[in-house]
Amino acid sequence: MKKLLKYMDGYKIQCILGPIFKALEAIFELFIPLVVKNIIDVGIANSDKPYIFKMVGLLIVLAVVGLSSTLVAQYFAARAACGFSAKLRGALFSHTQSLSYSELDTLGTSSLITRMTSDVNQVQNGVNMFLRLFSRSPFIVFGAMIMAARIDPKVTWIFAATIILLLIVVFSIMAITVPLHKKVQNKLEKTVLLTKENLAGVRVVRALSREAEEETAYNEYNRAMTKALNRAGKVSAVMNPLTYAIVNVGIIALVYNGALSVEASLISQGAVIALYNYMSQILIELVKLANLIVTVTKALASASRIEHTLEEKNSLTYGNEDICTGTVEFKDVALKYKNGGEPAVSGISFFAGKGESVGIIGGTGSGKSTVVNMISRFYDASEGEVLIDGKDIKRFSQNALREKIGVVPQRSVLFRGTVAQNMRMGAPDASDEDIISSLKTAQAYDFIAERGGLDADVEGSGKNFSGGQKQRLCIARALIKKPSILILDDSTSALDFATDANLRKAIRELECSPTLFIVSQRAASVMHADKIIVLDRGEPIDIGTHKELLDRCDVYKEIYYSQFRKDKEASV
Ligand code: ADP
Ligand code: MG
Repeated sequence: MKKLLKYMDGYKIQCILGPIFKALEAIFELFIPLVVKNIIDVGIANSDKPYIFKMVGLLIVLAVVGLSSTLVAQYFAARAACGFSAKLRGALFSHTQSLSYSELDTLGTSSLITRMTSDVNQVQNGVNMFLRLFSRSPFIVFGAMIMAARIDPKVTWIFAATIILLLIVVFSIMAITVPLHKKVQNKLEKTVLLTKENLAGVRVVRALSREAEEETAYNEYNRAMTKALNRAGKVSAVMNPLTYAIVNVGIIALVYNGALSVEASLISQGAVIALYNYMSQILIELVKLANLIVTVTKALASASRIEHTLEEKNSLTYGNEDICTGTVEFKDVALKYKNGGEPAVSGISFFAGKGESVGIIGGTGSGKSTVVNMISRFYDASEGEVLIDGKDIKRFSQNALREKIGVVPQRSVLFRGTVAQNMRMGAPDASDEDIISSLKTAQAYDFIAERGGLDADVEGSGKNFSGGQKQRLCIARALIKKPSILILDDSTSALDFATDANLRKAIRELECSPTLFIVSQRAASVMHADKIIVLDRGEPIDIGTHKELLDRCDVYKEIYYSQFRKDKEASV
């Protein structure tokens, strides 16, 4: 929590004024039983109506002043809490943006979402409640006790005993419920993860008829969470009857003691009523305090999770050199993912000259994406060297890597807006002509023109485009930067063969002649490349041209002939 306090900067005044007004409210409240006492002892005892009206007026004034301080306090506390949480959420968001793939893998998207939503809300609640109650509760509890002692010193022990008993009950109940609430929070996170996966993959789940299994898994988590919540609820339910019983026993003692004292004319009748009122105030306050502590404990747990996320630092450091030619060389490279056991790829060595095209082919999970992700430095090689322009990739600036390397990832991602807005994401200054020429190269201009050109709407995640259209738009977006290195990671998989071939031809004719990496499972997409790397289970089986591989590489032959009939050579 300490490290998060810096986001409270700018709200210091609110943090001081809130509790001060809350304390004022408490003081006004403490006066009320005294006024009531006077109404009874002076007003009613002497049948002094004007006095009674005066005192009732005073009660109303106390109520209005008390309410005003409450409103002011509430306002300051809410301002501070909301401002704080807004800053915190912003900080989390920009921090996540700065993390590398490796850290994002470790943290996980769904945890990040929970951090930014439910955890931040929890902390906001905690701050709000804390600012409102931490000054009020001690004031009321000890204030009421002192006031009571002033009315009748003999009852101090009744108050002390009741408060101690109440504290014991409240804190033992909390000792049980707080860990339960933590458990619920963890379960909630798992449920969010499951929900997210299921919603994202709802088509796959249905296509594979796995609804029943998914539902069972989901219900299991849901049930476990409900169980924990139920237990916490049951234990908390004991709190009210127990505390009320204790307070009522205290009140009986007070009234009994009061009756004797009144009879002996030691204290007045009004004093007994005042004592009774102070006792009730203490009860209510302690129950509130218990709630405050539960909220604050939850908030602290959330805060420590947020802190943990903010502490996760980008492990990549960058140099300041720029990419010129765009040659790429791998020297015996291996990559082991942080959360994976075995290296995902190993022993990768190849050289790609300026303007050359390299095909990478292999089955799913063979490590194709892993290899190209090291060129754009989404991940750093765990072993071996990755060189661009003959220099270690770590010597380039982040900007150079982003500007000069065009990556079209396996999953096409478009954002809500217009086509032009999407296209300008990588190059804000691109002219309409640039965009059109990129769209043409990417074979995307025709269907965009049909939809009204660059201002055509793109719905969230590009829902209003087909898979192949999305892929071509993503390729166009990568081309606008005129990259020195272009990576197409399985990004033509949804295109028909002819469009795919036209696209490759258009890219080869580009003026910037990028070094081209084509990742695919289709032989047709890579067969015209200058070099083809055949991957199998993370190992490079062979590197060569289509002809060479067809002669000597069994895996390549197998892939090729599974897609083209032996007797009929592909004519693309
Ligand atoms: P391909 O692109 O050929 O389908 P990938 O390069 O995506 O294959 O994956 C290769 C292997 O690395 C797979 O076994 C996959 O499980 C693993 N892998 C890929 N990405 C990650 C990741 N972010 N964290 C852990 N393991 C991963
Ligand atoms: Mg892949």
